[in-house]
Amino acid sequence: MKICRFDNNRFGLVRSGSIFDVSHVIHEMGPYNYPFPVGDPMIAALPDLREALEHAADDAEALPIDSVHLNPPVACPTKIVCAPVNYSDHFDEGMADYEIHFGRHVAKIREVALFLKATSALAGPGDGIALRNLDKRNDHELELALVIGRKADRVSRDEALDYVAGYLIGLDITTRGPEDRSFRKSPDSYALLGPWLVTADEIADPEQLSMKLSVNGDVRQSANTRDLIVKIPELIEWASAWYTLNPGDIILTGTPAGVGPIVPGDLIEAEAEGIGAMQIEVRAA
Ligand code: MN
Repeated sequence: MKICRFDNNRFGLVRSGSIFDVSHVIHEMGPYNYPFPVGDPMIAALPDLREALEHAADDAEALPIDSVHLNPPVACPTKIVCAPVNYSDHFDEGMADYEIHFGRHVAKIREVALFLKATSALAGPGDGIALRNLDKRNDHELELALVIGRKADRVSRDEALDYVAGYLIGLDITTRGPEDRSFRKSPDSYALLGPWLVTADEIADPEQLSMKLSVNGDVRQSANTRDLIVKIPELIEWASAWYTLNPGDIILTGTPAGVGPIVPGDLIEAEAEGIGAMQIEVRAA
């Protein structure tokens, strides 16, 4: 199942290139009383709602995908967990870049571990990317992203994939500089997710997916998730060893080589095998 969020809080299933509005199934879940549930209630309920969502889509009219404003598929993660340099080819280009600009080396992922982006950085394809700090270099980072489906506290890598609700494309937009990662990567819209969530049952092997990103038609990143250094089950084991992962929490698995600058006016196209494709406009904040 492919599920999207669009037009400011409507939900749809994506089938054969069209969207089928299933919002009423999701909206029947609320309202919630304070304090609100921890984690994303839609993601937590997804296994139970699945049959009702499929039936609702059967009865809905087809909407063209390009007629809607795509929001990030997940609205309420408690964390966006990120892997730094997790492809060896990006490590090599990072080494060169860092030595030139900052006179120091890029640390290896097992030394620096994972970091967090602010959840307020979330955006969807329809929102676009609003760049800040235009005096600095702002880069695109194409990544496979996954969404945690249920509470995961100290899970082993052998069972880790059972905790994944699904997969989507992530853009870990990054301002370059010597500041802490979480600071440089957390402006609004710098965690772009889309185009929709593909449930885990539709992805036979998340570590055999080709993905590609182009800017204004020029291919900048082209890679396959088979080249991840720290694999997806270990990322989940590692993160959940340090903090509980809640339904809706996002893991950005790291970017391959080819990261490069984006400026207002650019058009990014990103696609991943088994997930889909999306276009994102870049503007000044
Ligand atoms: Mn990244």
